[in-house]
Amino acid sequence: MAPNEANRRRVTILGSTGSIGTNTLDVIEQLGGRDAFEVVAVTGSANIELLARQAKAVGAGLAVTADERRYDELKSALSGTGIAVGAGRSALLEAATAPSDWVMAAIVGTAGLAPTLAAAERGADIALANKECLVTAGNLFVEAVAAGGGRLIPVDSEHSAVFQTLEADQRHAVERIVLTASGGPFRTWSREQMAGVTAAAAGAHPNWSMGLKISIGSASMFNKALEMIEAKHLFDVRPDQIEVVVHPQSVIHSMVGYSDGSVLAQLGCPDMRTAIGYALSYPRRPALNVERLDFAKLSRLDFEAPDEERFPALRLARTALKRGGLQGAVMNAAEEVAFQAFVGARIGFLQMADVAEVVMDAMVDWGAASSMADVFAVDEEARRRADEVIAKIEMAA
Ligand code: NAD
Ligand code: MG
Repeated sequence: MAPNEANRRRVTILGSTGSIGTNTLDVIEQLGGRDAFEVVAVTGSANIELLARQAKAVGAGLAVTADERRYDELKSALSGTGIAVGAGRSALLEAATAPSDWVMAAIVGTAGLAPTLAAAERGADIALANKECLVTAGNLFVEAVAAGGGRLIPVDSEHSAVFQTLEADQRHAVERIVLTASGGPFRTWSREQMAGVTAAAAGAHPNWSMGLKISIGSASMFNKALEMIEAKHLFDVRPDQIEVVVHPQSVIHSMVGYSDGSVLAQLGCPDMRTAIGYALSYPRRPALNVERLDFAKLSRLDFEAPDEERFPALRLARTALKRGGLQGAVMNAAEEVAFQAFVGARIGFLQMADVAEVVMDAMVDWGAASSMADVFAVDEEARRRADEVIAKIEMAA
């Protein structure tokens, strides 16, 4: 037994094989690795080889793939290691509920909601990369974390920046939250130019290296739309207090404006490990080996107003915020389905927003959720309707 084994922090990484997941393991390694952390569970889906490699490297207690059909493959990759193996939804829940102090929620999409919720309910601190938890379940998710007794620490770079600059004693003086957006690869493009782009072009982000869903969401600004709703629930502000500004360099990660005219910002190189490390070490800042900002090299920071005509996702987020209730869940579900259809070349880039808008308008009467069951029901219905809209678009093409 290592000398400090009993004092190790127990951590779980949901979505360890993704962009956030691999960065999280890098941060854990930087902050002491196996001497400082006991990795209780890691989870992935398609990349079994990476999942097995990660589980062995950190000496995880449990490795789970979301894909039931890959159980045997994972089992044989980890045979003889003593690492427990699971597959499918119930195994994911098992990974989330296995006792640990801190959980990185880095599964992509609504698939992350049930496991993250399970971790929140048992009182773990939740490092939240999966913004979909807040976009879909909103207050219910915030309340579940509070009831469990753990802390909710944002990992999304914008929300980490706001969390860091939101002074605890000055909540009364907060006027606005300013979320920065890079503008993505099509920041200066016309709608005509965007109409024909491929998923490969849309997935190439100018500043950040991320998973495909969020990269394409940056190109369409659907990611920023989700982040507006995420901000509302995380920071308990009114929709009209949430601003978006396009800032192509992604150096200012977001800002809080106060009633004395002051604006506090958090800056850094675009590297998710800073936000991940902050969430892991909170409330103490860790020492991280990440690139430092060189202001002389930087020389300028640019800002521009977002264009809701070219990027209708922002307008849809405003609509969802104004309508409230389950509209965030509807927007998110419709957009996830539309994203898959775009990646499969079934619909065009601009049609993702069209699909989301049609489904949102059709489900405006669904009101607010009184339980998680309502959230899952509206998610399912919005997906069904999005499929119908996409089928119509395909027929017309
Ligand atoms: P990714 O696609 O790189 O990784 C996703 C992870 O989820 C992988 O481990 C994958 O195996 C797992 N997964 C995929 N489908 C699953 C399913 N159906 N069930 C269970 N697990 C599944 O994604 P990412 O870029 O790391 O993003 C993860 C989350 O973090 C997203 O919610 C994203 O919006 C958010 N986020 C990411 C970044 C970033 O820099 N990548 C920044 C801010 C927020
Ligand atoms: Mg972000």
